[in-house]
Amino acid sequence: MGYHIDTGLILEKLKESSECPLCEIKKIVEEQFLHEFLNDAVMEDNTRISVGKKGFCERHFDMLFSRPNKLSVALQINTRIDKVKDLFAPTKSVGKAKKIADKIDDSLSTCVICDFVQESMVKYYKTIAQMFVREKDFYKLLISCKGFCMHHYAELLRYSSYAGFGAKSYLELLSDTQQRNFDRLQKELKEFCDKHDYRNALKPLGNAQTALPRTRTKVYGAKSE
Ligand SMILES: [Zn+2]
Ligand SMILES: [Zn+2]
Repeated sequence: MGYHIDTGLILEKLKESSECPLCEIKKIVEEQFLHEFLNDAVMEDNTRISVGKKGFCERHFDMLFSRPNKLSVALQINTRIDKVKDLFAPTKSVGKAKKIADKIDDSLSTCVICDFVQESMVKYYKTIAQMFVREKDFYKLLISCKGFCMHHYAELLRYSSYAGFGAKSYLELLSDTQQRNFDRLQKELKEFCDKHDYRNALKPLGNAQTALPRTRTKVYGAKSE
């Protein structure tokens, strides 16, 4: 299972005025993997092996379950259960019991879909840095977007070396965009708070109306299912 990076999607999402274009891209990437896991992937040996080894996190199990193809979910979780059942073998040693307990907890934190999504998102972080140096007008799009959520801003910093000789100006531009947009959001939050003063009751709220949910996206990332 592979994922082809869509540079058109980067341009499209940067042009939209969401609080984090990368959260929007992540939703699309995640949806594609969910679709694959509910359809063709269920037949692939490699995928079955990965599902057995890692399983799904709680969130992704729920997301798979909420979609139509229940047979596919049942077959895959069954593969995973075949593997985790080994953890229930009896032990007479309390020391070993503690180790098994840790292994059981660890087995709940691995997820084949989380890993595929993260792998693809890393490609996006690298590609954005490369587009900054390779595409003439790309910087204009970055400057005019509304910035990123905290996590995705951190990821862009983490992979900034992919901008090569342009890394310094890339970092400068990212920081400038991020700071400007957090200032903008704080202004909107202030307007939202001021509205609660009875003297401002009749003042139109405008954009500030949605300041809180947008702050949620900016700080924690876009809300997902
Ligand atoms: Zn984000
Ligand atoms: Zn997951």
